[in-house]
Amino acid sequence: MSKFHGKTALITGSISGIGLAIARSFASEGMRIVVHGLADERSADAVMSELGVLGAVETRFFDADLRDPTAVGDMMDAVAAWGGADILVNNAGMQKTASIEECDFELWNTILAVNLSGAFLTMHRALPLMTQKGYGRVINIASVHGLVASMDKAPYVASKFGLVGLTKVAALEYAAQGDKSKGGITINAICPGWTETQLVEPQIEERATIVGEDRDAGIADLLAEKQPSRRMSDPSEIGQLALWLADPVAHNITGTSIPIDGGWTAQ
Ligand code: NAD
Repeated sequence: MSKFHGKTALITGSISGIGLAIARSFASEGMRIVVHGLADERSADAVMSELGVLGAVETRFFDADLRDPTAVGDMMDAVAAWGGADILVNNAGMQKTASIEECDFELWNTILAVNLSGAFLTMHRALPLMTQKGYGRVINIASVHGLVASMDKAPYVASKFGLVGLTKVAALEYAAQGDKSKGGITINAICPGWTETQLVEPQIEERATIVGEDRDAGIADLLAEKQPSRRMSDPSEIGQLALWLADPVAHNITGTSIPIDGGWTAQ
């Protein structure tokens, strides 16, 4: 039986993209999965039944809007009543490109609320329960944009730098909790570069229009600008890294921000 069998993982934004890929990795190890995201019941049921087929022992779904602290609190109450999250993946996020001049305060606040404050709210509630168990993992899906900047992404870049900072502070505060045999409590960030999900589709379409060619040409042009490998990541690759970070063997890896970016941030 897998060492993860029966552990509970809450993955925000796991209805699609990178979050769903992480949920699939975890489900294959027999975890209990809390699926979350902005979705209707039909899509949620489809995801939960897929995770069940992969091996998840139990699944639950919450559609808490991360802009609403009360809704997040209600979700965290329900997860605590379910035994609490052993593994918390703060993955939900949004992005919209605009220059600072074009970016209104509402857009700024919305992106900060979803990408950064949402992670604070879940960590604030989940970490004390992890401390009681002596094992816990927080994996924050930041971005290369938590390490370097690009133009026209001020709120996104600010939120992801903030998430990397929050990761480091939490890692320090919880470093001495738990022990090696249980796996301790670690808090890390994964920093993806271009990864093929719906989040980046508007940017691909915009670039294809600019170069006057098809979607593949748009992707190639985006990669040529920033990602030296010239390959997109597949969300499943991030799922595999998240699973590895969740392993008790990773007890001494904490406060890190690990890029999966084809060399983007090595430049
Ligand atoms: P995605 O659009 O498929 O997933 C985003 C998820 O966040 C969805 O499940 C959505 O329901 C959820 N979400 C959005 N707003 C929400 C809200 N207000 N309340 C609750 N949930 C909300 O995109 P993705 O690419 O899988 O993105 C996942 C994470 O990866 C994001 O944090 C994103 O910033 C990060 N990321 C993505 C890339 C990439 O190239 N795709 C690169 C770096 C970082």
